[in-house]
Formats: sequence, C-alpha cells, structure tokens
Amino acid sequence: MRPFQYLRPADERAALAAASVEGAALLGGGTCLVDLMKLDVMAPASVVDVTALPYGAVEDTPGGGVRIGALVRNSDLAYHAAIRERYPLLSEALLAGASPQLRNMATVGGNLMQRTRCSYFRDAGVGACNKRHPSSGCAALEGHHRMHAVLGTSLSCIAVHPSDMCVAMTALDAVIHVRGPSGERDIPIVDFHRLPGDRPDLETELGRGEIITHVTLPASPFAAHSRYVKVRDRASYAFALASAAVGLELAGDTIRSARVALGGVGTKPWRSREAEGALVGRAADVTNYRAAAQAALAGAVSRPGNAFKVTLAQRTLVRALELASGRST
Ligand code: SF4
Repeated sequence: MRPFQYLRPADERAALAAASVEGAALLGGGTCLVDLMKLDVMAPASVVDVTALPYGAVEDTPGGGVRIGALVRNSDLAYHAAIRERYPLLSEALLAGASPQLRNMATVGGNLMQRTRCSYFRDAGVGACNKRHPSSGCAALEGHHRMHAVLGTSLSCIAVHPSDMCVAMTALDAVIHVRGPSGERDIPIVDFHRLPGDRPDLETELGRGEIITHVTLPASPFAAHSRYVKVRDRASYAFALASAAVGLELAGDTIRSARVALGGVGTKPWRSREAEGALVGRAADVTNYRAAAQAALAGAVSRPGNAFKVTLAQRTLVRALELASGRST
C-alpha cells in the first residue's frame, strides 16, 4: 500500500471540498477500496472518510416509497422492517452478497461504486487491463474468463459487475441522488453504471467531487410476487455466476406488469426490458417464463469459458419467475 492522506471531514461542505481534489477517493465501509489499495490496484492521493456525514437513515417518502441514506450498512438495510415488508427482493439480494462481516461494514454508497472482481484487474502485475490502464489491452479476452460477462461487453472489456444489491435496485427502479460542485443530481440506476465501450475505466456517471447522498425507491406493487435468485459456486461468500431479480404484478393468472434484472452476466446491473416485454399481458406460466428468458439473453456474446452462462442465466430467470409467481412446472 502506498502512502496517502487520510481525511475525515466533519460536515458535508468540508467533504465536498475534499472530494473535489484530484486523486481523492471516498471511503465508506472500505470493503472494496481498502482491498484494492492493498493490492496496489488503487493508489489515491487522499482518502476521504465520509462516515461522519448524516447519510445513515432509512425513511419513508410521500407516496409510499423509501429513502435510503448512502451510509446505511448492507446488514441494517437487509433487516430493516420497511425493506423486508415492502421490498423483500432487496433484502434477499443483500443477504445473498458477501459474508455477514462484510455486510456489517459495507455501505449502500460503496456497494453502488463496487468494482469488478476480474482477476486480471485485481492483479497489478498484469499489464493488459484497459480498466486499470486505458489502451493496454484486455487479458481476459483470450485468458480465463469463466466469471466474465456475456451482456454489454465490448472488445475492450468483458468484466462483470459484481453487486447483488444493485441488481435488485435496478429491478426496483432506484434513483441515485448525488451532490457535488454543481449542485444536486438525480440519476436513475439504469443510467448510473456505464457500459465499457472503449473506456472501461469510466465505470459510473458520478463526476469528480460528487458524493452519493441517498437512494430512493418508488412505491412497489411487487412485494407479494418478487424474488432474488443467485447461482454461485458455493452456498455462501461467492459472487454470482448468474442471478435474477424479478417482480411481478398479477391480475389473476395474467401478468399486469413485470420487472426483470440480471446479475453475474452483465458488465453492469442488467435491466431486461426484453424479458419484461415478453411477460406483460401474458399468462403467468412456465412457457412464457422460458420465452422471457430467451429474450433476456438474445443479445448475449459469450466466449468458450463462459458460454455456459447463457443457459444458466436463462434457467435462473425462469426459476426466479416461478418462485415469484408461485407457479412452477
Ligand atoms: Fe481488465 Fe476488463 Fe479485461 Fe478484466 S475484462 S482484464 S477488467 S479490461
């Protein structure tokens, strides 16, 4: 780990000033940043510890939604009564992530900014990684890419987005609220994470000096019929090979509205409007679930090491839809 300046601003104004300095990195729970600093993958000139800021509450909003402070710990959010009752999908996704110890430290803001687990990215000794060093190449394209993405990839990067929480929030139409030198901005989560394109080093829409203050979720009609299903190499403390977050609004046997997001397969938390379009107005049955899964992965681009993910993601989505609706084969 390289030397750095540690700052712990007492208020928001001081935090925004510190965050605007070139080379600054924000510290919440530290479960990603400190890890990458120890690996010499990230070497910020200053670390701005924002944990003294008043971003730690979960509150109801007018209209039946919820406002989640950026510093709410993943464990606290997962077990919060309002989340368990009105957004059980989010609670399930949070509890599927990492380990209890990490969830006790990790924050909502940090989870939104979580970086990929691509082993080449995390190995500072590997030269070819466009995400660490733009225009250096991508070792994963011809290397070991079993865990890598099949949706949203480019020839510059195929790294998968690792978060479970973000997949659930994507299905729930979350909005990210940020504050920075130019004031406040609200960014729908589907627009918050960028596709890699030819600049995989640019991962989110968060600008220099901006801080995530909170996330809002609109009122959800999906609480009764929603599920997060995660498939991984072992039963806990493993990243997703494929995951699916689904919410269904049913009118009898007909799907009135649907939300579908996938994890473990996309370069960003992957909202599948194609799958949603294949479900809405149709009967809640496995034939239509399979059609939705086909639609969700129709644009997949796989490589020899991760081709299995296409079928796995389809089956994961079908299973999530079956569990959410209570209708299975
Ligand atoms: Fe780097 Fe992305 Fe290639 Fe991994 S997949 S080596 S993060 S450029």
